[in-house]
Amino acid sequence: MLGNESIQNLRGIGEKTARLMEKVGVRTVRDLLYYLPRDYKDFSNIKRFKDVRLGETALFEVKVTSLPQVKRIRRGLEITSFEVTDAGGIATVDIFNQTYIRNYITVGKTLYLYGKLEYKYGKGVISSPEIYFEKPDSPYLPVYPLTGGLNQNMMRKFMRQALYETEIREPYSDAFLARFSLPSLKSALHAIHFPRERTEADRARTRIVFDELLLFNRMMQLLGEEKRQKSSIAVKNTEQEKIDFAGKLPFSLTDAQIRVMSEISQDLQKDVCMNRLVQGDVGSGKTVLAFFAMQCMRKSGYQSVLMAPTEILARQHWETATRLFPEEEIVLVTGALNAAERRKANDQIETGAASIVIGTHALLYGNASFANLGLIITDEQHRFGVKQRAALAGNNRDVHTLIMSATPIPRSLSLVLFGNTDISIVDELPPGRKAVKTYLIHENKYHDMISFVQQQLQQQRQAYIVCPLIEDSEGMDARSASGVMEELNREYRGHRLALLHGKLKNSEKQQIMEDFAAGKIDMLVSTTVIEVGINVPNATVMVIMNAERFGLAQLHQLRGRVGRGNDQSYCFLVSDLQSAYERLRVLTATSDGFEIAEQDMKLRGTGDILGTRQHGDSTLKVANLIADARLLEKTGAVLQAIAENPAFIYEYNMITTMAKDNLENKILEIALN
Ligand code: ADP
Ligand code: MG
Repeated sequence: MLGNESIQNLRGIGEKTARLMEKVGVRTVRDLLYYLPRDYKDFSNIKRFKDVRLGETALFEVKVTSLPQVKRIRRGLEITSFEVTDAGGIATVDIFNQTYIRNYITVGKTLYLYGKLEYKYGKGVISSPEIYFEKPDSPYLPVYPLTGGLNQNMMRKFMRQALYETEIREPYSDAFLARFSLPSLKSALHAIHFPRERTEADRARTRIVFDELLLFNRMMQLLGEEKRQKSSIAVKNTEQEKIDFAGKLPFSLTDAQIRVMSEISQDLQKDVCMNRLVQGDVGSGKTVLAFFAMQCMRKSGYQSVLMAPTEILARQHWETATRLFPEEEIVLVTGALNAAERRKANDQIETGAASIVIGTHALLYGNASFANLGLIITDEQHRFGVKQRAALAGNNRDVHTLIMSATPIPRSLSLVLFGNTDISIVDELPPGRKAVKTYLIHENKYHDMISFVQQQLQQQRQAYIVCPLIEDSEGMDARSASGVMEELNREYRGHRLALLHGKLKNSEKQQIMEDFAAGKIDMLVSTTVIEVGINVPNATVMVIMNAERFGLAQLHQLRGRVGRGNDQSYCFLVSDLQSAYERLRVLTATSDGFEIAEQDMKLRGTGDILGTRQHGDSTLKVANLIADARLLEKTGAVLQAIAENPAFIYEYNMITTMAKDNLENKILEIALN
């Protein structure tokens, strides 16, 4: 195999497993090889009971000294216990529920247990260890990130097969490997999955990250060299527009907003296309900046289009625009339009009757071509690529682009990522905002918390409860919106509740959001469909169930739905998982989105945050731009060195070609747009 075959070419992978693999971004054998362990099990040492540190997970070699006993604790909980000795100490092994295990345990049998030794009432206890009947034959076993239906043993088996049956080609020459002290790709891939030593795995990872970052650096270089497109769009007298626009608003602009408005208006008067990213924390007031740019365009006779990631958000922007520009024809295009409505919308777009168009991805399909488009704005779009931009612009080649994002990217990183983009930062919140008080709540305090929420509702405030699932699901230990809704209806009467999730009909979602915004609903029980952009200033409480299941940046976004008015707002992160508390505490400690993003990127990788993880073929699968900052720098220097060295011309050209290919296909997806 060469690597680009479907994983179904591996023995034991049929359609069903392939579908599960696809969920984690693995389609080809190469994807699988680059699907790296998140951790390793250390079988390199057999530890004695007396030698382990408190809380250390280790491998023990033991002999069974008593027959297993099964105790029924309560319905659905049975414990199988037996005694073991490691020829020095003794301990009890407790296994939860899997009672069939007793059939395999006999006195005198040797077992290998991988788990934690704890002391309860002075006695050693190993709870739910992994049990091996023979000594594991690798010193380290990879532990992969999984999705339901896949397990570690399957992954290890497939990985071994892929490693041994794929012809892993080395892209670099021996001289290149030697010059930059790199292990070969083949040995690196073997070692990262099945290392003999911990350090071997680290060195292997460095090689893989090196490849990605070298390519990434070259892509960014090329992007930076791209010339700005000339623009023939003439926008006049933006100074006057600034005054007019400010006069329409019910509040005074912050200094940061005024500064960014100036930056935008300067861009619009240049003879090259604007390509600007506006970054500002949630609630910093980016929407008005988009509308300001739209006003400049329409006063000069050009159309603008604003694309939002969700229907709810698109509608909300449409309503704001309709209020700001009552005299204008403003069209909303979403998947909810029927054929006749869509035709009418297209007509208004094509004749130029509509000066402002707002919508979702539905804008990209349905062949509307703008009469005279001057500006494309995307709000919170993490996947807006070159192709989408071209689809929107159609014949209007030299349009301006404005990107609004609350995904905060540290400055150092944004310079690399947005080589050819100007960045504006709205680094100030509107006055009077109080920081959202954020608390970590254990499930056993859930009812107290709900009582608190009720008090808020009695003061005519509103609340959100966000759950990771729509419905209860077997095998998924997490709260669902439907389940919570049912419970609230049963136990806390007297409030007007509504359930909101992605499976509802568009018209239903819309009605619920309208009712919530109008104060006709007190509490919205929802999935993350409300994550981005939604603005209901009277909502003061955000409860997030199973908070451990969300990334920090996402939690920060969700929290940003409250604290939008002048009242004190609260955010409750409900979680039972003690091990997640350290991570979640980042949110209780700070409300600075940049700091949170930086922590999040360190923990989860940059690909995730920039929305590239789903693409199995993205450039940065392993590298973490924050954690690997030093290697990012080093590969930058390597690139300089090989550009000038004829000995490495082959490598340089190869990387350049790959970078160009990638840029054409997908880089702008990475670039957050
Ligand atoms: P985001 O940056 O998250 O997109 P929005 O544009 O949705 O933020 O603004 C959040 C809220 O703040 C909205 O209700 C908006 O009307 C209000 N807002 C924006 N700018 C100001 C300001 N200068 N003074 C007071 N309120 C403002
Ligand atoms: Mg917004």
